[in-house]
Amino acid sequence: MAQSPTPQITPGKEPFDAIVVGSGAAGGMAAFQLAMAGVKVLLLEAGQMLDSDPTKAYRTMEWPYKDLRRHRLPVGEFALSAAEYRTLDRPYGLTPEMQQYKKVMAYSGNHFTREWIVDEKQHPITGTPYAWVRARVLGGKTNLWGRVSLRFSDLDLKAKTHDGFGEDWPISYADISPYYDKVDTLLGISGTRENIPHLPDGIFQRALKLNCGEVQIQRAIAKMGRRLIPGRAGVTTDGVLNNKYRARCMGRGRCGRGCDLNAAFHSPGALIFPARDSGNLTVRTDSVVSEVLIDDSTNKATGVRVIDRNTRETMDFRGRVVILAASCLESTRLLLNSRSASRPNGAANSSGVVGHYFCEHVMGPGASATIPSRVGTAPTLDDGRPQSTYIVRFRNVTDRHKDFIRGYGFQGASGAAEYPSNAADTPGFGASFKKAVRDGYPARVNYTGFGEVLARKENRVFLDPEVKDAWGIPVLKFDYRFSDNERKMGADMADTAEEMLRAAGATDIKVRRDVLTEGWSIHEMGTARMGTDPRTSVTNSFGQTHDVKNLFVVDGAIFVSASCQNPTWMIMALCWRAMDYVKDEMKRGDL
Ligand SMILES: Cc1cc2nc3c(=O)[nH]c(=O)nc-3n(C[C@H](O)[C@H](O)[C@H](O)COP(=O)(O)OP(=O)(O)OC[C@H]3O[C@@H](n4cnc5c(N)ncnc54)[C@H](O)[C@@H]3O)c2cc1C
Ligand code: SF4
Repeated sequence: MAQSPTPQITPGKEPFDAIVVGSGAAGGMAAFQLAMAGVKVLLLEAGQMLDSDPTKAYRTMEWPYKDLRRHRLPVGEFALSAAEYRTLDRPYGLTPEMQQYKKVMAYSGNHFTREWIVDEKQHPITGTPYAWVRARVLGGKTNLWGRVSLRFSDLDLKAKTHDGFGEDWPISYADISPYYDKVDTLLGISGTRENIPHLPDGIFQRALKLNCGEVQIQRAIAKMGRRLIPGRAGVTTDGVLNNKYRARCMGRGRCGRGCDLNAAFHSPGALIFPARDSGNLTVRTDSVVSEVLIDDSTNKATGVRVIDRNTRETMDFRGRVVILAASCLESTRLLLNSRSASRPNGAANSSGVVGHYFCEHVMGPGASATIPSRVGTAPTLDDGRPQSTYIVRFRNVTDRHKDFIRGYGFQGASGAAEYPSNAADTPGFGASFKKAVRDGYPARVNYTGFGEVLARKENRVFLDPEVKDAWGIPVLKFDYRFSDNERKMGADMADTAEEMLRAAGATDIKVRRDVLTEGWSIHEMGTARMGTDPRTSVTNSFGQTHDVKNLFVVDGAIFVSASCQNPTWMIMALCWRAMDYVKDEMKRGDL
């Protein structure tokens, strides 16, 4: 199955039908939908190529003892922690304490992902603290994502109607639900049908089993009117049709460094390699797009400018349609950097809205505890799961909380995962220490809240006039902070996590009250939002920019609000819908 990387093409005379920028969830879906329909697509990815044989691309099953540092980064390389994001000045490396580090990486930079996660020194940002996790590699962040795959509902899409804040989306659940169904069927998702109106069911494959500790929590919180359900994972547990790159999940629980069966959804194996096999998709990696080229006389995008990541050579590629899918903030940066005398604020920005209404999820508060009934039990095969459980939003659904609007859900981790996380906190040494670790290992549970950050106009990113990245491209400056609504929601998350674990009879409850620094949820949304009014929005509901008809944005940037559900499944459903529109417009000759 292994194929050598596609030779790096150089610009030719003929334009492509469509150019897609970025190869993550959004770019992969855009390229797949168009190429499978016969559209000639050029996919430009800033990062490196991945081998199409997943056992070569991902080091899923490598044991910690194979590596002297147990998968930690080598000396001289360093992954930023949450606390450092709060305290360090930007750009990175200018503060004395950071000078000692040759290389600085974000968040989950580790032995496995260090070639994928960006080095903050090459990719600085400025302004308010923000933990901006970026993966530059074919497939982007989908190679290491957490696979939590939840649908938005009308409670999210029509949130303004519900509580008066912000804007409603220009679409309702009825518009997007057929596309969620298509994404479920194409990619595979594991879950259970629960009939919860504000967390719609999907077309699920075999669900993950709850362990007895989780059932205990489920029963206890049901008495409080709250729902704990098996995690809905973007993983194929029964297998998918017509994709030779993917196999079904074997329940090994080692998915965070990339699944070498491609059972977990990763954009390369699920979308890009099959699309490339159609003969209609050309992939060029190491291609850092610096701007969209626009003919100001016709107001049409003509293509994009690329700086080769390695050679620094600059080249232009031509396309009839340009589709930005570089992730929310990178697509926004590209729009802002596509400037001319007649477009001093960038492309598709006559509204001045590009960069504003930045929103994400507030994360961190929650609690961990021991479930006594699992102490001393043996790990089971069901402990190796690609996800654990989800506690569904219960705030501001039918009632109104006195302190904050919108809501949050809890993502759980429980059971005997790869590494016994209780080892670090267990006192003692020798045989009794080992026994205590083994006994406690399957019994720990941990719940972390993910809450909606309000899309407020004053929360924004813009171009820093002074700082550039290693390729000479102006970087983003953040002016973004959580508000009281997020802080009060965070306080409630900590209280309710403790309350639920206590109700379930858990012991040794450790409550976390700190809201993690902005960005830590890795769910970026809203900076080129969709809408019907070109004065207050950047795109229509198909991601087509109001100002430049053949320029589309298809990632989280077009979200109107963040919901508390994870965004990736929604990004792909919206993208599929947008690509159906592009194909129709192409057929009609309007694009
Ligand atoms: C550890 C982790 C856990 C996560 N868990 C979840 C989860 O459980 N559920 C969930 O829904 N989401 C989760 N996410 C978020 C999820 O990965 C993203 O929502 C999703 O990948 C977004 O897709 P995207 O295509 O917009 O961006 P990405 O996947 O980031 O892809 C963007 C691509 O564009 C490329 N690019 C950027 N700039 C340029 C440029 N100028 N030129 C060319 N190419 C460019 C990048 O290199 C990258 O490959 C998680 C992310 C991480 C890192
Ligand atoms: S648990 Fe499933 S999805 Fe995760 S690494 Fe194993 S096979 Fe892949």
